[in-house]
Amino acid sequence: MNGRASDLRSISYGGGVQSTALLVLAAQGRIDFPLFLMANVGDDSENPGTLRYVEEYARPFAAEHGIELAVLDRVKRDGTVETLWGRLTREGSRSLPIPVRMSNGAPGQRSCTADFKIKVIGKELKRRGATEATPATIGIGISVDEIHRANNRRTEPHEVITYPLLDLGLRRTDCARIIRDAGLPVPPKSSCFFCPFHRPETWHDQRRDEPELFEKSCQLEELLNERRDELGKDHVYLTRFNRPLRQAIPEGVDLLPMFDEADGACDSGYCFT
Ligand code: SF4
Repeated sequence: MNGRASDLRSISYGGGVQSTALLVLAAQGRIDFPLFLMANVGDDSENPGTLRYVEEYARPFAAEHGIELAVLDRVKRDGTVETLWGRLTREGSRSLPIPVRMSNGAPGQRSCTADFKIKVIGKELKRRGATEATPATIGIGISVDEIHRANNRRTEPHEVITYPLLDLGLRRTDCARIIRDAGLPVPPKSSCFFCPFHRPETWHDQRRDEPELFEKSCQLEELLNERRDELGKDHVYLTRFNRPLRQAIPEGVDLLPMFDEADGACDSGYCFT
C-alpha cells in the first residue's frame, strides 16, 4: 500500500503529442505538475525529430513558464551513460532488450522500457525524496483514444500513477489542438527510431523521409540475426511480417493495405507519448 502522496508531482515526458499537451496544460495552470522528467533512451536511439523538438520548443517553453524539464540519461553503476542502441550493438552482446517480432509476428519480451525509462525516472524521483511512505505522483500522457494502454502498469512502491488526459477526457486530436493553440508546432511521434512496435505506415514514412535512419534500422535487424545465427536461433524482425525490413517495407510503394490497431501497441505509457 502506498502512503500519503508527497508534494513531488512529475510528468513522464516522452516528447510526443500527448505529453507535450500536458506541458501546455501545466503552463496554463490547468494541471498541477511543476516537473517534467524525460528519460532519454539515447541521442543515438530516440527519434532525432523528437530530440530536436525538445531542444527547440519544449525546453524554452517550459523555462518560460517556470516548469522544470529535466532530460535524464541511463547512468550505469560505473558512472557511464548507456544508450539502448549502445546496448543492442555492443560487440559480443547477447542482449535482446527490444520487443522484436517472432515468426508469428508477436512481439517478444522486452526490458527496454523498464530499464531505459521506468527505472530511470523512478531513480530520479527517489533521488528527489520519494519514498514508499510519501510516494511521488507521476502523470502519464495516455489520451482517451488510447485508454487500453492505461491498465497494465506495475506501480513502483514510491510512485502513484495518474493519467491527467483521461481525467480531462482529452483525445490525441485535442492534444494537438492544445499544442497549436499555445503557439507551438505539433511534435513528431516519439519513440526509438528502430522500435518494433512501429506501425507499417511509420516504417514506410521512415523509408521515404529518413532513408538513413531506415538503413540503420535494417542494419540493426541484420546484426541481431547474425548473432541469432551464431546461437542457432530463429530470425527475429522489426516488423510482424516474418521477413527482413527491407523486403517487408518495399521502397516507393505509397499505399499499404489496412493494418490493424494492434501494431504500435505499447502498454506502459512511457513510450510513444
Ligand atoms: S520506444 Fe520501443 S524500443 Fe524504445 S524503449 Fe519503448 S518499447 Fe523499447
